[in-house]
Amino acid sequence: MNGRRRLLVGGVPTTRITRAELAGMMVEDCLQARAGALTQPLIIISSNGAVIADFHANRAFREMVLEADIIDADGMPLVMATRLLCREPLSERVATTDFILDASAAAAREGLRFFFLGAKPGVAQTAADHLLDQYPGLQIVGIRHGYFDREDEAAICEEILAARADVVWIGLGSPIQESFALRNRARLSGVAWLRTCGGMFDHYSGKFHRAPLWMQRNGLEWLYRTFNEPLRLGRRYLGTNLPALFYLATQTSDAPRPKHVSRADADVRSHR
Ligand code: UDP
Repeated sequence: MNGRRRLLVGGVPTTRITRAELAGMMVEDCLQARAGALTQPLIIISSNGAVIADFHANRAFREMVLEADIIDADGMPLVMATRLLCREPLSERVATTDFILDASAAAAREGLRFFFLGAKPGVAQTAADHLLDQYPGLQIVGIRHGYFDREDEAAICEEILAARADVVWIGLGSPIQESFALRNRARLSGVAWLRTCGGMFDHYSGKFHRAPLWMQRNGLEWLYRTFNEPLRLGRRYLGTNLPALFYLATQTSDAPRPKHVSRADADVRSHR
């Protein structure tokens, strides 16, 4: 374990960490990887209502989630549930669309290299241009769209290694991004972090806007997103919100790991 406290949030072992701490950890891990002290990249993913619902509904997805080194909480309802049910609640929400800003500032300062993988052709480039404007000195050393076949993955990993990326941001949606990270982790030795990021490239390409702050703070960002994409997200949230609420109410506690994972299993998996 990395000494970071994990809580069970809706049954998912979620790391208790702030955005600033996570950015600091990213810098530290990149320096370690460059020094050869990390044998393979760490996998950092986010939990939210959809992840919680899927974690319980789909065993293959659950196993992938349990392999992650850090699971941060990308959803205000998760933070609220821990405030009600845990002695030491989650410190704050780590929304990926916010965390990329902390990470970019730290990367520009420390000379870390990012690779963007995902979204439709051109989208991640527009997102990169936006971040480069905001963080002069940021190095985005490779960009590739997210529509490819399994056979292309070896070549994509070679491209990432040739670019000497420290952090690969993987925005392929769940569960494609988690399975890509796990399947290719061993091929990407030398990279420090594989960080899943969902629709983050779309967001920073200007396609969508964030919900007003009052909605973000009150756990209503999902409602705002549904108004923007009613068909796709309406269907998703209908299927996931109720189960997520149920698991948040019944499986949120200070315990560090889910009941169905043995201590031995969990210790092997959670080497951080
Ligand atoms: N995507 C991709 N390859 C695929 C399927 C999806 O690159 O094979 C991208 C898609 O273009 C979008 C992102 O993955 O940019 C999925 O975003 P979504 O909103 O579903 O993720 P969330 O943020 O909700 O996890």
